Amino acid sequence: MNIRNTYRIFNRPTLLSMMCRREKGYKIVKRPDPKTLRMPSIADAPSIMDILKEKIRLNGPLTVAEYMHIVITNPTEGYYMKKEVIGQSGDFVTSPEISQLFGEVLAIWFYSETQKMGSGKPLQIVELGPGNGTLMVDFLRVLNKFKYKSNELSIHLVEISKTMQLLQAGRLCVSHKESDIELPYDREGETVSGIKVYWYNDLKKVPENFSWYIAHEFFDVLPIHKFEKTDKGWRELLIDLDENQKPYYRISGEETQSVKMLVRPPLDAGDRTELEVSPRSLGIARQLAERVDQFGGLALIADYGHEGEKGDTFRAFHKHQVVDPLENPGESDLTADVDFSQLRVAASRAPGRDNYAIVMGPVLQKDFLERMQGLARLEVLLNNAKNEEDKEKLTASYNMLIDPQKMGERFKFMAFYPSTMADILEKHPPVGFANLTVK
Ligand code: SAH
Repeated sequence: MNIRNTYRIFNRPTLLSMMCRREKGYKIVKRPDPKTLRMPSIADAPSIMDILKEKIRLNGPLTVAEYMHIVITNPTEGYYMKKEVIGQSGDFVTSPEISQLFGEVLAIWFYSETQKMGSGKPLQIVELGPGNGTLMVDFLRVLNKFKYKSNELSIHLVEISKTMQLLQAGRLCVSHKESDIELPYDREGETVSGIKVYWYNDLKKVPENFSWYIAHEFFDVLPIHKFEKTDKGWRELLIDLDENQKPYYRISGEETQSVKMLVRPPLDAGDRTELEVSPRSLGIARQLAERVDQFGGLALIADYGHEGEKGDTFRAFHKHQVVDPLENPGESDLTADVDFSQLRVAASRAPGRDNYAIVMGPVLQKDFLERMQGLARLEVLLNNAKNEEDKEKLTASYNMLIDPQKMGERFKFMAFYPSTMADILEKHPPVGFANLTVK
């Protein structure tokens, strides 16, 4: 019996009275207490490969963005849900892990730029993708020197992986606990000096207050769509399974929804034939710009990337080697270079947007660190070093950060300032970004 028949059989009052009766008769169905709900245990969870196969079987080929999203962030099997991904024994090493100087210099940059804005207290430090928590440990050491009291400072970590959240809590806190499900944060803790630390799975949940936002090697893990220009126009690169159930790339026959939404001028201009776009990155860049402009603060993005000249950078790292991103999904880190020119557009003034940022950079890591007196900081560390071996290590790690052949030129820095600061920045150009004109 379909719904039209039902209506014919019952006249209107009868139907209404039945519906009302039903309403009165609703029973309370007992549900489990949400606090007791847990993810399925790892042993019961399907493997990443099974999840990918099932998705492709049900919905057809995946976009590269869907593939990255599943492989990196699946709650039980995703790449970042496993331990020891960053560091010598993991798959890649990052600047904060190489030298303490890195985090210290960044904290000094935030502090000195904040002096142009007022007291900067109370202060929220918001880190996106904190990894092993090392950068924040180095930040806190510097802030301690600047005499921030524990009630003037709070730490807010945006981290999707529960495993990484726990690892960070172990590094930063003397005590921490999982939060009630109705709270915006997943976990809360306290540092040895009484500073409160909170973990969130999304930037949207972080309180909208004056903040320093730091994102180091965060944007490069966010999912990208890949496009190629064919003789029929722009098409999307998709991931399908071959007859042996192995993932492989194929080009979409038609324009996909993402081609229609994302391949727009000026991105598709010129004679370029390959393009990568990360809508998630653009959304987060926009949120950072709006937050900085509306509630005050600064955002600093540091990552490897380019300014729109590259179109094919999607790759994977396993045990410090570049490997095929479709090989052994979940076992290696998936990444793509950050297109800073797209972040700039997302954060800048645009029609219909009330809040936007003044965007500085990108500048090369070596220039940023040198302008920030990295060498003088190295001298201080060398003077405090216990022995020759430590001195050699300190010098070698600083060189790693600034050497153009190593990290000095591949890594870049970009900053967002509130739009109201144009005049101040004209008079006092941003440290680290000096010699650039304010737009
Ligand atoms: N900033 C750190 C770690 C970089 S690795 C460093 O420089 O050493 C990327 C980090 O981002 C990891 O902590 C990973 O778990 C986290 N991450 C990945 N995808 C994320 C997402 N969508 N939202 C929040 N965190 C994410």
